Formats: sequence, C-alpha cells, structure tokens
Amino acid sequence: MTGPTSAPGRSTPNVMRADWSPPVRSELVDASAYGAPQLDVEVRLNVNENPYGPSSATAADITAAVASAALELNRYPDRNAVALREALADYLNGRIGADGAGLTAANLWAANGSNEVMVQILQAFGGPGRTVLTFPPTYSMYPEYARTTHTELRTFARADDFSLDPAAAAAGVRRTAPDVVILTSPNNPTGTAASGALLAALLEAAPGIVVVDEAYAEFARDPGETALTLLPEHPHLLVCRTMSKAFALAGARVGYVAADPRVIDALQLVRLPYHLSAVTQATAIAALRHADELLAAVDLLRSERDRVVGWLRARGLTVADSDANFVLFGRFGDRHAVWQALLDRGVLIRETGPAGWLRASIGTPAENDAFLAALEEVLA
Ligand SMILES: *Cc1c(COP(=O)(O)O)cnc(C)c1O
Repeated sequence: MTGPTSAPGRSTPNVMRADWSPPVRSELVDASAYGAPQLDVEVRLNVNENPYGPSSATAADITAAVASAALELNRYPDRNAVALREALADYLNGRIGADGAGLTAANLWAANGSNEVMVQILQAFGGPGRTVLTFPPTYSMYPEYARTTHTELRTFARADDFSLDPAAAAAGVRRTAPDVVILTSPNNPTGTAASGALLAALLEAAPGIVVVDEAYAEFARDPGETALTLLPEHPHLLVCRTMSKAFALAGARVGYVAADPRVIDALQLVRLPYHLSAVTQATAIAALRHADELLAAVDLLRSERDRVVGWLRARGLTVADSDANFVLFGRFGDRHAVWQALLDRGVLIRETGPAGWLRASIGTPAENDAFLAALEEVLA
C-alpha cells in the first residue's frame, strides 16, 4: 500500500481495497441510481423540461430576491415556508377560478421538487407494513420512493391504450386496500389524463389516501380537469404539483402539494428541519410573481405537441394521446437502435415506457423540427 498522495489532478480514484464494497441495505445491492443521461447535445428532449427559460426581467427579480436572502444566510430559513405557501395558494386559487377551492397556506406544503414531497407523503402515510398502489406504465420514480420508505408497492395495470376503466380500477383499489393510491394525471410516460369519473371512483374506493400527481396539469387539453376542485369534499385527497415543468423552473427544485390542513400537518411530522433553503424560497416566491410570463409558453407547447402527434401519426407511427409536454410513440422492434440513431443526429430523447415505445419531450418549434427531421432520416 502506498500512502495518500498530494499530487494535484490525479485521475485514478483513490481505491485501496478493491475487495471492499459499501455495506448498503440489501435492497440497494444491485440497484443503480436514477439515470436519465445528461448529455451535452444540441437538441435535448429527454426530461420534459420547458425549453423556454425566464426572461431577463424575471431573472433580475429572482436575483434581487436571492441577494436580499443572502444577507441573512447566517440564519436558518423559515422552516414552515409560510410566505411561499401563501404565494402557492394564491397561484392555485387563480388557476381554479372564482368557484375555486379557496386554498390558504394551511392547505399547501412545499419541498425540493415534488420528488421530495412524494417521499414525505410515503414517510407519513406509507412505511413498513403499509402498501402503495400505482397504475403502470407510470413514473419510474414511484418504485424508488416505495423502496426508500419501506412501503410495499402494488400495481394495477393500465389498458393497452393506457386508459383506466373507472369501475375496474376502483375494484382493484378495493381488492388491494392500499394505504396510499398514486394516480398520475396526466400520466408520465404515456401522457394520459384521468377523467373526472375515474377520480371519483378512486376517491370513493380508497380506504387510505389518494395522491394525484399533476406534474403536467397545465399542459392538459382541458386544463380545467384538475383534482384541485375536488379537495373541499375529500380530506383524503392530495394533489401534487411542481414548478419544474410548465413553470419553467426545474433548476430551482420546487414541488408542492395541496390538501386538507390535517394532511399538511401530518407531513410536517416527517420533514427534515429547514429542508427548503432560504435561497430556494426566495427564488420560488419571486418566480410566482411572474407566473403569467413563465406560463406564457404553455399554449405554444400544447399546440406544438399536437403538431408533433399529428406528424408522427401521419408517418404511420402509433402515438398515445397526450395531455402533457411529451409524446410516447412507437412501436419499434429495436427502440434502442432508434434512440441511438437520433442521438447520433444530435437529438436526445428518452428510452422509457413499455417495450417498443420511445418518449420525446416537446421543445421549441425549431427543436421539434430537428427531432422530426432526424426521425424521418432514421425511419427512411
Ligand atoms: C417531472 C415529474 C415530477 C416533478 O418532479 P420534480 O421533483 O418536481 O422536478 C413529478 N411527477 C412526475 C410524474 C413527473 O414526471
């Protein structure tokens, strides 16, 4: 063995005992970390980001808010994030309209992305001896949240067209009697929105809580179809949203949930102290002041989505109906070859979903044109 070296820029990792591996929990032994490739290519349509960043006026307002937060970084942040929760409640009330749910800060909770919100939900309502039911094909992170929180994962499969029959799904819920139901609407990676009838049937059947993950709600063809309006009648309903997609703020890491105040209180039992930094809170509050601008691109992205769906169908491909900012299309005998051939042409999409399908996020019109031109070459 040699001693530690102080040579700068050493390129080999400092592994001294090749026969040692970290004694992780047994569930983690063969696991690999979440890994959508972050590749530096020209057209990146792989993680459903909004292609339009904040304007310089919005960026300047965020910068000013962060600058004043910086002067108090010796102090812990507001661990209850009250000002941010008030701003989120105002935002949602504005979206729902006059007959809205009348949400207040007591109905809102925020964390570092809706990923963290979802883990907190399972920490509070799942856990050892408890179960969570999801509807695959769906978001690839749910099994990881279940594993991390020792919650047993149960599934009820979607139909071939990725829809869910309300009566059948409700029967599945009654049979499984899960502590937590997670319905993703619009669903990732299929783009499928849940009908009001499906939401009603699941809320009726569920013995525990029902989480509706509405990460893509603003992109729906009918954005009025949101579970938010059902909150007043259903204390066991939790509606998760994020600032990462329509809101064009993925880099800030802000997700949130709207629910009955008693549910929000329960989530506070499991959150880590001061989980949401003062910088994050200041950023999100400033961004919410510019909600109209940040959301302005949503209409364009929705019409671009419909254009891409139409092109793919005209090209003879199968495309799932999409209410989100991405399209799932196929089916390919060797989807990896298609994915790789697109990457070779500078277009990164996502190899995800059921076998034979690929998912492409909707970008700017120029990015979508580049994607479709590259695909035309690959298919020819
Ligand atoms: C992108 C996405 C989220 C949002 O994750 P953040 O942690 O808020 O960035 C949540 N749910 C689904 C289904 C998603 O696709």
